Amino acid sequence: MSENNTIIELKGLTKRYGYGDTESFALKDFDLTIKRGEFIMIMGPSGCGKTTLLDIIGLLDRATRGEYYLNGESVASISARRQAKLRAKKIGFIFQNFNLIEDLPIIENVALPLVYTGHTKTSRLKKASSALKRFHLEEREYYLPYQLSGGQQQRVAIARAIVSDPEIILADEPTGNLDSRSSHIVMEELKAIHEEGNTIIMVTHNPALTVYATRVINMLDGQIDTDVKTVADANLPQPISVKIKKKKSDFSSLSNNNEKPKKRKKSHRRKK
Ligand code: ADP
Ligand code: MG
Repeated sequence: MSENNTIIELKGLTKRYGYGDTESFALKDFDLTIKRGEFIMIMGPSGCGKTTLLDIIGLLDRATRGEYYLNGESVASISARRQAKLRAKKIGFIFQNFNLIEDLPIIENVALPLVYTGHTKTSRLKKASSALKRFHLEEREYYLPYQLSGGQQQRVAIARAIVSDPEIILADEPTGNLDSRSSHIVMEELKAIHEEGNTIIMVTHNPALTVYATRVINMLDGQIDTDVKTVADANLPQPISVKIKKKKSDFSSLSNNNEKPKKRKKSHRRKK
């Protein structure tokens, strides 16, 4: 597998809080290279820097020092404005407490990330509607979040995370507030999203969930303690072009992957 399958590269990443006596490090000289299509689970005791790491990868926070390359581009050199755009387009977030806006119907919650992508409101709601359909919530589009169960709310949050077709999904303890049945459903959804070729980085306290991962990283005091790949790079899922159900006309893009270059000859079609 070639080098350009690297999607995220962190070098000597350090996040410091406070100075002098109060100085502490949430991340310390943290090095990590992530390939496209990995499903990474991050574990480790409370306070070891997991959320800080996800926030920096998700462009919600900045490191004190060190380098971060996203798709080969140094994040430090990107303006705040473009970072916000990049975040909206490339990165989907899922949180432990769902983070839905309580007084917005779920369809509008799901449509929110599209505000930054230049779609009209109608087209945003259409996309949100197909994302919700994928999670079998189409009949609840105009419910408010509190009218749904925790498991359903987390599925709404996953729909919101994938609505803009991002290639990276960051999930901070997404099953932390769910019972085991809902956790299982959420994990199966994440598994499906991963199999479509997306890169997932998920924080969890539940060792049973690591069966879904292709790589398990244990953190301790802002550093990597252990890092185990359970699936070889060569066997990671490849991106496919259709993620959310699309219009018929869009299916033409599906066939492009395996097609040989078109030949010049005029009529090529075999008669049946
Ligand atoms: P985890 O998600 O693994 O529980 P965090 O990334 O939230 O850990 O926190 C890592 C360390 O950084 C902790 O010691 C925490 O207290 C500290 N920390 C996080 N945010 C701040 C902040 N805004 N100010 C000071 N210290 C912080
Ligand atoms: Mg945390």
